[in-house]
Amino acid sequence: MVLLVCAGLAAHAEGKSSTKKQKPVRLARHPVVALTFDDLPAGGGLPPNQTRAQIAATLASELLAHHLKGVYGFVNGVDVADDPDEQEALRTWVEAGMLLGNHTWSHPSLNDVSAAAFEQEIARNEPVLAQFAKEHDWHWFRYPYLYEGDTLEKRRAVRAWLKAHHYRIAQVTLNFNDDDWDDAYGRCAAKKDDTAIGWLRQSYLDNAAEFIRVGREEQLTAFGHEVPNVLLLHETPFTALMLPELLRVLDRQGFRYRDLAKVQRNRVYALDPDAASAVGGPLPNQFLNARHLAYPPFEPEPTEKLEGLCR
Ligand SMILES: [Zn+2]
Repeated sequence: MVLLVCAGLAAHAEGKSSTKKQKPVRLARHPVVALTFDDLPAGGGLPPNQTRAQIAATLASELLAHHLKGVYGFVNGVDVADDPDEQEALRTWVEAGMLLGNHTWSHPSLNDVSAAAFEQEIARNEPVLAQFAKEHDWHWFRYPYLYEGDTLEKRRAVRAWLKAHHYRIAQVTLNFNDDDWDDAYGRCAAKKDDTAIGWLRQSYLDNAAEFIRVGREEQLTAFGHEVPNVLLLHETPFTALMLPELLRVLDRQGFRYRDLAKVQRNRVYALDPDAASAVGGPLPNQFLNARHLAYPPFEPEPTEKLEGLCR
């Protein structure tokens, strides 16, 4: 088993982080979003008495209860062959009407490996996808950590390989590091600390709302308008616990749900900042960083409290 830690908000760190007051920005009444889940079938640490199959079943049933089907889950196949529970998780996800995409075999950082080694990681994952996705289109690729290349040569080489192998890049416009809550949740659940778990639930939702707002405002700076969104979530125990409440937050903000292929028909998704970056990030962030544009002010994630909670 490998523990996968995905897609940081490091891209924000390059921008101007500030909490000073600014004029409120007018956002669309009915933004559009496609949900996506990374790190199937084994995202986050597994709490006692839970299985990967149960987490996949919970997420899928929560999505179906919200009338959402055809949601992409991006797979790391590294342990699947040796773990019947992971196999069952993938079968459960697909039988519920959800889809699978490629997230590399073992979740390497493109910053740490060559383009050729990274391409091998993508190719090595394909038999798992072919086995479990059946007739559905699994030729969608999500970069681990949203790192798309710390040199321009790597970035261009991997993009060319993906194109030659008929992949589309599953971009991201909204991301709030939902997987940063799992370790603390595991510790607090083991201690049965309901007060701490209550704080975890509320801070998860507050952080989601804040980063969804700032993600939308970033699009105004990067593109001059909001775009149909792709939201990155993770297939983790805490997000499985929180998804119904998270969907209520999105509903209250007027979000309407579309599938990934439809969202990425928007012309923005054909744009490429074509710039090396060691911090990667969602597509609007890549443009902000490449053009040295300032980020809107935002309240940062409560990282220190998450790391210290229930120790
Ligand atoms: Zn990941």
